[in-house]
Amino acid sequence: MNDALRNLYQEVILDHGKHPRHFHKIDPCSHCREGYNPLCGDQLTLYINIREGIIEDIGFTGHGCAISMASASLMSQAVNGKTVAQATEMFKAFHHLLTAKDKDSGHEEKLGKLMVLAGVKEFPSRVKCATLAWHTLENIMHNAGNPAGTP
Ligand code: ZN
Repeated sequence: MNDALRNLYQEVILDHGKHPRHFHKIDPCSHCREGYNPLCGDQLTLYINIREGIIEDIGFTGHGCAISMASASLMSQAVNGKTVAQATEMFKAFHHLLTAKDKDSGHEEKLGKLMVLAGVKEFPSRVKCATLAWHTLENIMHNAGNPAGTP
């Protein structure tokens, strides 16, 4: 990654960290879940309306470091209006981008703007900050397919 690109990525992260998009509660919502990253103290609550397999609205509240807030903000923009299947694919690609040892191509295509967080991989202690919102979302989506009470 060249310096100009790195600086641009940092600017986007700082901007989203300071002014997170979709930073609000959704009431009523079909699903909400809390996420917590004890390593850093990041805490967020994700609110989603899923109807007929489509994420119709998404918002979050909470507090944490710039990376956790920026990631939640960018994620909300990315998955809003997408199907649960599409969002699950994004989660997998994003998770792979930050955690996999091997280089996998095709991430740019799937992740678009989310690629600004690719540099977090160089800081293993911050990876959980960047994936917190995604794990929370994945948790909701995983359970959204199951009727309440079904293991
Ligand atoms: Zn953090």
